[in-house]
Amino acid sequence: MNVDPKRNLPDQPERCTDFSQLLLAWDNALPGRGLPWAHESDPYRVWVSEIMLQQTQAKTVIPYFERFIERFPAIIDLADAPLDEVLRLWTGLGYYSRARNLHKAARQVVDQYAGIFPRSFAEVFALPGVGRSTAGAICALAFGVPTPILDGNAKRVYARYFGIDDEKESARMRRLWRVAEACTAKTECQKYTQLIMDLGATVCTPRNPACNNCPVSSGCYASEHGATHMLPRKGQRLQRKTKSTAMVMVRNRNGEVLLERRPAAGIWGGLWSFPEFDGTLENLADEFGQRYQLEITLDEEWEELSHEFTHFRLKIKPLLARVAEKTSGNLTRPDIAFISIDSPFDRGMPVPVAELIDRLQAIPINPEH
Ligand code: SF4
Repeated sequence: MNVDPKRNLPDQPERCTDFSQLLLAWDNALPGRGLPWAHESDPYRVWVSEIMLQQTQAKTVIPYFERFIERFPAIIDLADAPLDEVLRLWTGLGYYSRARNLHKAARQVVDQYAGIFPRSFAEVFALPGVGRSTAGAICALAFGVPTPILDGNAKRVYARYFGIDDEKESARMRRLWRVAEACTAKTECQKYTQLIMDLGATVCTPRNPACNNCPVSSGCYASEHGATHMLPRKGQRLQRKTKSTAMVMVRNRNGEVLLERRPAAGIWGGLWSFPEFDGTLENLADEFGQRYQLEITLDEEWEELSHEFTHFRLKIKPLLARVAEKTSGNLTRPDIAFISIDSPFDRGMPVPVAELIDRLQAIPINPEH
């Protein structure tokens, strides 16, 4: 059953006015829900919170945001920091390109705008990693400019309220943006922007929306037609694939482990990880000889562990190895290093690697060393 396309808006601007007024008059509203970035007018902090909130729930973001702002209280601190430190503070939050872009954009703001966050939508939108919705949120929340947002929460609310269900994603998005533009309050846009995000996060939730407690229920298409489960229209669900790899935990006689910085593109881009190995165990020593000029001996195979990504599951086979006595383990490439696992770690690393290092700390070095 499709949603009645005649209910799709743009042609009914009065419904946008109704929506906006109902939302702004929300009795039980607690704009910002007490979140640490709510009511921020510092564009730097709004920007950091908006980037962290992409694909991530607010409750997960809170400790990351607080640690990040404590370490980098101003954009200049972020711009001056080494990327490794930024990635370390991002470890566990996922989608690491967000952290790399944040760092790159901070440098751009310092170089191009003398460290003062740009105020125009076009300049904010042009920063690395900032999309239209994020730029809209920054301009609305920090500068009070009535620029619409269309994050996951706003998209869900608009699709349900206005019954927007076009089959083609491009047509659907065009309608959603038009509605978002028409609805965004011109004078109370900070409050409006905060409230539309709050409504999607707390009332108009993906499952079991609380229509009885919703401030806009009187005009909502999905609520009136029992169509909340059909809206927003879901994209085609991709079959989740499973990939497999082995991670080789090579220790030298000082107990340091060999880590390699991953390329910027691809999963865990820029993070430090154990070298991956996809060949057969008989070829492991040869491969390490060629790749790192290291002679290694395999000691143990650990039980496989699994790590979930949005589109696939990664099965990781950990292999514990050691550097043979006659090789020094001195490496000259800047993207590989033997690192002590006892001292505090100052580099970003994928969660499974951090977990494996934790386990390694309890394992004595092989006495044959
Ligand atoms: S009435 Fe229900 S479906 Fe409509 S916006 Fe409110 S919570 Fe969402």
